[in-house]
Amino acid sequence: MAIQPIRLFGDPVLRTPAEPVVDFDKELRKLVKDLTDTMMDAPGAGLAAPQIGVGLRVFTYYVDEQLGHLINPDLDLGGEVDEEGEEGCLSFPGLTFPTPRAIRAVAKGFNMHGEPVTLEGTDLMARCFQHETDHLDGVLFIDRLDSKQRKLAMKAIREAEWSGLSAPVVKISPHATQGRAL
Ligand SMILES: [Zn+2]
Repeated sequence: MAIQPIRLFGDPVLRTPAEPVVDFDKELRKLVKDLTDTMMDAPGAGLAAPQIGVGLRVFTYYVDEQLGHLINPDLDLGGEVDEEGEEGCLSFPGLTFPTPRAIRAVAKGFNMHGEPVTLEGTDLMARCFQHETDHLDGVLFIDRLDSKQRKLAMKAIREAEWSGLSAPVVKISPHATQGRAL
């Protein structure tokens, strides 16, 4: 097990676009393992490399008992949008907001051995692919909220006990986000 501290909102690494993976080597396989272990420990439904301080385009997911990872993802979104689905993020412990996301997503990329992979997701899986790929672009779920929800989110963030902590010190309750934290 190689559980890493999860970076919290306010840490600049979460706003920094990640670089594409070029070397599919042992270090990359260790990164995928660290992401997987950290995600499962949290627990979360997804985790992107910048959330453990690594600026590479890699994420892991665990949705509907399907565990996996994707490297250098490229998304193709369906037109239908779920406006109301609650979404959280391990970098915003305990907070969820209704976040508009496409209901269907096809994610193309590579596995850790450099083999091409195509993943198709609906509902929470599609939401996860969008949330994690956003992380790799330095985009956070609060950026996707409508203006009313965004105001509520900023207030909740200011009032959160972890607000302003850039050091990763919070071990969140597994119940706080009903397993929907990404
Ligand atoms: Zn997240």
